Amino acid sequence: MSSFREEELKKRKTYLQIAGTACSNCRKTCREANVKTLLRCARCRVSHYCSKECQKADFQFHKVFCLAIEELSNNEQAWYSCNGLESEWNKRKIYQMQLLGFILDRELNNYERLAWLNQPKCQLCFKCPKDLKTPQALIPCPNCQVVFCCSPEHWKKHRSKHDDMCETYQIMLDCERIRYLPDQSLWAPEEYDENKLYPPLPKDWTGYFKWRKASIIPQRNDSFCRVITNTLSLPLTILSALSRFYTRDQLHSINDMVIHIIGANQYELSALMTFEEIMHVLPDIKVLHLVMVGLEMTPKHHGFPLRCCPRCTNENRMRVISMYPMIYHEFAKSSDYSQPHLAIGFNKDLGEDDFELWKPTIEFLLDKNLPSAFTSYSKKEAIEDVRIIKELGALILTGAKENKWSSTMPLVEPQEVDKFYYNNFYRTVFQGRVNKEKKEE
Ligand SMILES: [Zn+2]
Ligand SMILES: [Zn+2]
Ligand SMILES: [Zn+2]
Ligand SMILES: [Zn+2]
Ligand SMILES: [Zn+2]
Repeated sequence: MSSFREEELKKRKTYLQIAGTACSNCRKTCREANVKTLLRCARCRVSHYCSKECQKADFQFHKVFCLAIEELSNNEQAWYSCNGLESEWNKRKIYQMQLLGFILDRELNNYERLAWLNQPKCQLCFKCPKDLKTPQALIPCPNCQVVFCCSPEHWKKHRSKHDDMCETYQIMLDCERIRYLPDQSLWAPEEYDENKLYPPLPKDWTGYFKWRKASIIPQRNDSFCRVITNTLSLPLTILSALSRFYTRDQLHSINDMVIHIIGANQYELSALMTFEEIMHVLPDIKVLHLVMVGLEMTPKHHGFPLRCCPRCTNENRMRVISMYPMIYHEFAKSSDYSQPHLAIGFNKDLGEDDFELWKPTIEFLLDKNLPSAFTSYSKKEAIEDVRIIKELGALILTGAKENKWSSTMPLVEPQEVDKFYYNNFYRTVFQGRVNKEKKEE
């Protein structure tokens, strides 16, 4: 366990911490800390602590953001009324984040951004504690403790809607607890198939966990399995896309497999260990080349081997990762480029504002007739992606379909009330262009 990871984990804030239901330092709730209420930071009124000791210990991390929030609180203009409108509340949050960035004289970091986007508010009228005339606290849901209303009346109106969602909030919190355990290394299955049968992919996660003898995972429970689908979704989505382009025999004859990951970021890096699963499902691979191309891939690496499980290591199998901090079509022009067996982009939204950036990349994939796939968080984004790719002439093999290998770990969508999203929820698979003559027939 590296202290670096511990430091990183410490800086992150869980939903319970952001909601003020858990200690900002040690993550304990009132019950876990055996106290009646948590102490609130008198300056920012955002961070909560189970004890003076925890408040002291957190101060070095908290200080800068605390002072910035205090300054923002004194700026009455920044707290204009949202008139009970979700859209106004969203706009105000973004405005306040700009002000906070201005005060800090830098962009908000990840933790600060999440804390601000998910700040507690009444789920019905979107009032934050600061908006309430009398200094009353928001009333939490007794079951999940992260959803609030400003009054019993608003709870009465919101109760039935929340009852449908409360369980998902609780699952989300349970997954988060598992992810933030300091000694939690993400489980990646080791090679186990003594008979070397390597059946085709099972039909869903339940089948997968049975096949992979997940019962041997010591901490196994529903939430734990959800947490590991969040990263295993990457190699399994790759495997299922490969099976769309190659027969089983073809796949079993590839010794040097090259996978390009387009627009890779922290999500893919955090899941590096799990990519070995590709080698476990396709046992004839001797070297798996993972080429991650994306602006966050710094520093540049032309390939270094990653540790494999004992059995793969014994058989001299290798997993080599390369990282290129650039846009894919720039990488494609470089001398480091070699043709992949699959080019795939995870959770991409081609439509957003970056279409001009994406266009040359898609054109390249189509020109080279490369087996390609994209996943996205939502159906809406997936449909938009298909529209864009089609407009460029692509032959779509699977268009905006639910991905059976999507993550099952719910993540909160901070810009929409009671919305959750899942990594790689939808997928689109395509190769080359539609044959023009055929189209004209
Ligand atoms: Zn504490
Ligand atoms: Zn504070
Ligand atoms: Zn309210
Ligand atoms: Zn609840
Ligand atoms: Zn292995």
